[in-house]
Amino acid sequence: MDEETQDVEIMPTDIVFDCPHCGHNLVVDYRAAGLQVPCPSCGAIIQAPIPEGMHLEDLDSDPGELLSQLLQTRRMLVKAEAVAQQMGEKVAEMTQQIADYRKTLLAVKARVETLQEAADLANATRQDVLDIIASAGGGK
Ligand SMILES: [Zn+2]
Repeated sequence: MDEETQDVEIMPTDIVFDCPHCGHNLVVDYRAAGLQVPCPSCGAIIQAPIPEGMHLEDLDSDPGELLSQLLQTRRMLVKAEAVAQQMGEKVAEMTQQIADYRKTLLAVKARVETLQEAADLANATRQDVLDIIASAGGGK
């Protein structure tokens, strides 16, 4: 059933897809991307898919222009990677700062709790002293 595609050597640039009508596996040259082609199996007119990231205008460009675009893309990629690395370092730095702030915050919180405990203790002691004074005063 798939004798056409089995006999054909599939090139890396070929577009492989299934006919949406009969499911027949089809292989077309990349230059056919986006074109209406008849399905060799069921005869339906189907559109060859455009590979992801490919622009139809790429097909009209000559190889020299494509090569210069490729080189330009690679240069941009190298720059983008450098920026990504810088951002990664910045994120690591900020994460460290946040961890430091967190530590400081926890230390302050612990100190506030200690002060609160001391204040509670002072209050309780003061009440005890007042009670003692009251009872030493002969009561009623
Ligand atoms: Zn078909």
